[in-house]
Amino acid sequence: MAIATINPTTGSTEQTFEAHDAAEVERRIAEAQAAFVALKSTTYAQRGEWMRATAEILEAEVDDVARMVTIEMGKPLGQSKGEVLKCAKNMRFYADHAEEFLADEKLDDPSSVNASSAWTRYEPLGVVLAVMPWNYPLWQVVRFAAPALMAGNTGLLKHASNVPQSALYLDTVFERGGFPVGSFRTLLIGSREVAAVIEDSRVKAVTLTGSEPAGRSVASIAGAAIKKAVLELGGSDPFIVMPSADLEKAAETAVKARTSNNGQSCIAGKRFLAHTDIYDEFARLFAEKMAALKVGDPLDDATEVGPLATESGRDELAELVDDAVAKGATVLTGGTAPDRPGFFYEPTVVSGLTDDMRLVMEEAFGPVATLYRVADREEALKIANQTTFGLSSAVWTNDADDEAFFVKSLDAGAVFINGMTVSYPELPFGGIKDSGYGRELAAPGIREFCNLKTVWKG
Ligand code: NAP
Repeated sequence: MAIATINPTTGSTEQTFEAHDAAEVERRIAEAQAAFVALKSTTYAQRGEWMRATAEILEAEVDDVARMVTIEMGKPLGQSKGEVLKCAKNMRFYADHAEEFLADEKLDDPSSVNASSAWTRYEPLGVVLAVMPWNYPLWQVVRFAAPALMAGNTGLLKHASNVPQSALYLDTVFERGGFPVGSFRTLLIGSREVAAVIEDSRVKAVTLTGSEPAGRSVASIAGAAIKKAVLELGGSDPFIVMPSADLEKAAETAVKARTSNNGQSCIAGKRFLAHTDIYDEFARLFAEKMAALKVGDPLDDATEVGPLATESGRDELAELVDDAVAKGATVLTGGTAPDRPGFFYEPTVVSGLTDDMRLVMEEAFGPVATLYRVADREEALKIANQTTFGLSSAVWTNDADDEAFFVKSLDAGAVFINGMTVSYPELPFGGIKDSGYGRELAAPGIREFCNLKTVWKG
């Protein structure tokens, strides 16, 4: 795939970039390795100072950076600004908490292991490769990079080929905050060049956020090289609405959960399961609110839904809907690509689903919701758990019994009650099943790329 910014609002190519050749990749890996040697002997206080300075740069540049992100991948400008500021917040979070998350832990009773004392300590692993997607071109990277650098690791970034400007911004921003040169380096390479980087002896681990096929490929290369991998892959999260829910609020949040980031979020509610007692009312509210969204130029403040990031992404989404319709599904609203330049698709709600439809089992990466009528909570759970994914989930209920049932039984990395899934620096984030393994954010996120060293003293 060419490394280029193609503006999804207009469909025109804004800028293309030469891929780094083998010599440049080698130079950058060497730089990251040299930076690791320098960084690992610095203190948390020093790294925290640099991380806070980096956060300040992002905050100062929020307007320009957000505009760049919107032009590159099409999300509404206000959401791009939110993403930039969230990155800064995450940087401050790890600047404040890294030392506490990675503190030594003493064994209370060392005599049980015949020692005078015994403890564990966390040590950085070294250079970590991050293979990242375009949907949150800054946030996906920073949620890895901030804890990694605070732990004393250094990072290499292979970003998605359609967000090179975001990738190059990230190439320098940590250095500008004061981190040693090379602490974070972008590699402008295609996905075929990833294997050689993972296999390089200086690279100690890899994290990938992206699709399931990419995850399988990267994890098997890392597995063969006996290197740690963290995988944050796709999702098809259920959003369950029970009779005791506040329906107006549930429908409003359902729309946001499905269309935020133009519907291209791994943790978006994608399958909406409404109890039969409230199905008709919920379906009406949901379809009405989806139809009322303002679709348009993401640089326009009034726009709520912009284009899909790529033409192929828009075409694949349309194929999923067309396949469902051909097999008998009902479109409650939307269902077509508007006749205008750019990669737009209307906010869509589809009901009347059957298991032979691709839309039922595959991830719809755009503003398309599937809506199910369920007889009871058991049926809701069965449909919720029937995909191969297990990222997150949402349940709307004011019944304590229903709440306990779903919290315990949903096969997912998270359950959000009376809300939509959102990532927070303070909460661990990640999935099960084909949604991947490992956790980002909070304390588990910073520990993923550390050696947990046991110390025994006689
Ligand atoms: P993608 O095609 O898998 O691309 C993600 C990254 O992987 C890009 O940098 C891509 O590079 C690279 N890549 C693709 N195939 C590869 C391979 N065989 N070997 C090595 N690298 C490879 O995913 P996407 O379409 O950009 O992103 C959408 C997907 O990401 C959705 O499934 C979404 O749910 C998932 N996602 C998950 C999370 C999470 O936290 N769980 C968060 C966001 C998105 P190129 O661009 O050069 O192909």
